[in-house]
Amino acid sequence: MPAWICETCAVQHADTLEPPAICEICSDERQYVGWQGQRWTTMDELAAGHATVLRAEEPDLVGIGTEPAIGIGQRALLVRTPHGNVLWDAVPLLDEPARQRIAELGGIAAIGMSHPHFYAAHVEFADAFDARILIPRADEQWIRRPSKRIELFDDEVQPVPGVTLARIGGHFDGAAVLHWPAGSGGRGALLTGDTITVVQDRDWVSFMWSYPNLIPLDEATVTDIADRVSRFSFDRVYGGWWGRVVIADGAAAIRRSADRYVARLHGERPANQ
Ligand SMILES: [Zn+2]
Repeated sequence: MPAWICETCAVQHADTLEPPAICEICSDERQYVGWQGQRWTTMDELAAGHATVLRAEEPDLVGIGTEPAIGIGQRALLVRTPHGNVLWDAVPLLDEPARQRIAELGGIAAIGMSHPHFYAAHVEFADAFDARILIPRADEQWIRRPSKRIELFDDEVQPVPGVTLARIGGHFDGAAVLHWPAGSGGRGALLTGDTITVVQDRDWVSFMWSYPNLIPLDEATVTDIADRVSRFSFDRVYGGWWGRVVIADGAAAIRRSADRYVARLHGERPANQ
């Protein structure tokens, strides 16, 4: 039996005889059902026309994506540490060349993800490398492919010593970030996926209930997100797509972006506009 993959969000579901009637991820108001209706594929079908690609982001950080892009098109990140590697977010395809390359890089000890839209093929990655899967209890309802490897956590957990996976909330109640103190030359990096999204002007970030449907968050939640990450020391912010990176001064970028967001909610515009 194949593990069904939704063509729109690319989240892998359980390996049932028939695909589910609907994708609960895409039926939620934060996503959307594809314009052609609900469609399903499998990893074997994806492998026929796509490849898993790995590219260095900085020392000990490797981006993992699929080409051509599948579903939402995110790229995952492999954080290498002396205590084992952490896969941050997941992509829908793990092909054999990528599996071999990840093994050469030290494999995967644990997997943490920013939010359910990026759960993708995390169980396949975990099975391939005997990895733990850490999911916030607040998002337990969004688990589409059950696995004995899944461990639920409440607010904070260290997937490997020195690296912190923290529930921040906002986009989903369990939306999380990964703090990697060794990143950015020891100044620290925050891996955020869509919990805090790096926008086109890469000196800024944003925060949304829904990105494709452009549904904003409220003032209290945006302020809370900025407050919650202020306990971490970091310079660089890695969003969920290739190139979506705040290169430096990321902590200040998050604070000023939250302040701007709240100002616009209050109807305040920049001077002279
Ligand atoms: Zn879906």
